[in-house]
Amino acid sequence: MRVKGVGYGCETAGRSGKFALAMRSVSGAAEGKWALVIHGGVGEIVRGSLTPAEDTAHRAGLSRAVDASSTVLASGGTALDAVEQAVRVLEDDPAFNAGRGAVFSHKGRNELDAAIMDGTTLKAGAVAGVTRTKNPVTLARAVMERSSHVMLSGAGADEFSLENDVEQTDPDWFHNEARWQELQEALRSGAFDGRRHMGTVGAVARDRAGHVAAATSTGGITNKRWGRVGDSPIIGAGTYADDRGCAVSATGSGEFFIRVGAAHEICARVRLIGADIQTAADGVVKADIATLGGTGGVIVIGRSGIGGWSFTTPGMYRARAAEGHVREIAVYGDELATARAEP
Ligand code: ASP
Repeated sequence: MRVKGVGYGCETAGRSGKFALAMRSVSGAAEGKWALVIHGGVGEIVRGSLTPAEDTAHRAGLSRAVDASSTVLASGGTALDAVEQAVRVLEDDPAFNAGRGAVFSHKGRNELDAAIMDGTTLKAGAVAGVTRTKNPVTLARAVMERSSHVMLSGAGADEFSLENDVEQTDPDWFHNEARWQELQEALRSGAFDGRRHMGTVGAVARDRAGHVAAATSTGGITNKRWGRVGDSPIIGAGTYADDRGCAVSATGSGEFFIRVGAAHEICARVRLIGADIQTAADGVVKADIATLGGTGGVIVIGRSGIGGWSFTTPGMYRARAAEGHVREIAVYGDELATARAEP
């Protein structure tokens, strides 16, 4: 079911089989008002699968990130600054699979991927497999602003980070015991399943000037090998922003998002055929990626301030805020599935 043109407090929601879809129109974010959506990953997140402490920790992390990002936008900051800020907060939070809470690779290392894109200039920066940068999203921004490249990887990206005075940290900073145990379990079972451990973080924002931006950061997939890189730092796959269309950050089984060119595909549908963001996001996530066997979700925000999400997993850590409205946080698929009264 879809509800149109009814303001920020109204939900557009649909269901497909056992999977929940939730996407809403933030039509309260008219010209001149800011809006943002963030995510902390998707997965087999159903009621009862998280301890109360885990549930609380994830909501608190989302809350801190959406508030920090809202502060940037409310003080007239840019969408680019807002998405970087949101992702930095989530990278510092061990509850999420990015920065400090990143999963471990086969070699027992945290190899971090991140990307950021400015929808106004179409400038973008990305890093893959970095190991010593405290906030990989800020390194991605440095690549965008201080190099003539878009993407750096591995030792070279670490070297660029050091040379550009991006904050460094001992790799131990990223060590998280629960993630380490997940790796031990994966090594025992030989598992390399991109659907099991998700928790990538991302943000999309639209500022008062009407510009959009997107950022994504992740540790990737537990037990990843051979320098595997997922969709998150691939511009056009896990991250994309274009003022003429929308801004997108994805999370899920990265190989499928890469093959579909998911984030760019959503933007292209909005820009070229005038699809509304709900239809564009659903078409890519629920049809194209699902048909190939992939799972996951996206958050999207359009130039007009319409923002929301689409996902095929039972849950998605997510939050949204818009100028003049109370921010909302959700974890399970059935949350925010009905209209909510205006604050
Ligand atoms: N998309 C990420 C990757 O494939 C994983 C995730 O979103 O959890 O690296």
